[in-house]
Amino acid sequence: MDSLKEKIRTEGRVISGGILKVDSFLNHEIDPFLMKDVAKEFAKRFRQDKITKVLTVEASGIAVGIMTAYELGVPMIFAKKKKPSTMDGTFITKKVFSFTKNTEYDIIISSEYIEKEDNVLIVDDFLALGNAALALGEIVKDAGAKVAGIGIVIEKGFQNGGKLLRESGYRVESLATIKSLDSGVVEFL
Ligand code: 5GP
Repeated sequence: MDSLKEKIRTEGRVISGGILKVDSFLNHEIDPFLMKDVAKEFAKRFRQDKITKVLTVEASGIAVGIMTAYELGVPMIFAKKKKPSTMDGTFITKKVFSFTKNTEYDIIISSEYIEKEDNVLIVDDFLALGNAALALGEIVKDAGAKVAGIGIVIEKGFQNGGKLLRESGYRVESLATIKSLDSGVVEFL
């Protein structure tokens, strides 16, 4: 996606440790026009797959998720990182190791929002080691539903997540894949 790559090139900042900061359009301030283009692209790639729900994880996945769900005409669910007191009934929870925060956290979803008949598209802002997407995939499988695929806005191709997910049998569609962030320069695949 050229508009996304251009935005990364002009506004992305490389932080040490292989992290790309894109707070000006994806992770803090959010560019709704770019999000619309991102969502249209995901919808185009997955329209034939009869998606029934879009699943992501809070907080950075929500903007991507809701726009994609809107384009596909289906609901969006986001996994929460803390169990709210209002969440009753049964729920599914998984542990995720965070690459950026170097710590483990739980994600949780109320069982009532994923049914056996669902064909779920997982989306997220970044793919690094693949832990977040894998945990979301396991949640869908635990619910007895199907993962149609995984849509990623920015895949860091120099990390193992993409390989891991594809080898696990998931269809992964990334809109921009970064080959390297060496010397502070973004190089696309
Ligand atoms: P993974 O689970 O694939 O290791 O990491 C994915 C999650 O970590 C994403 O949801 C994203 O929030 C965060 N993340 C991973 N790498 C980066 C990065 O380079 N920049 C930013 N802004 N977030 C990242």
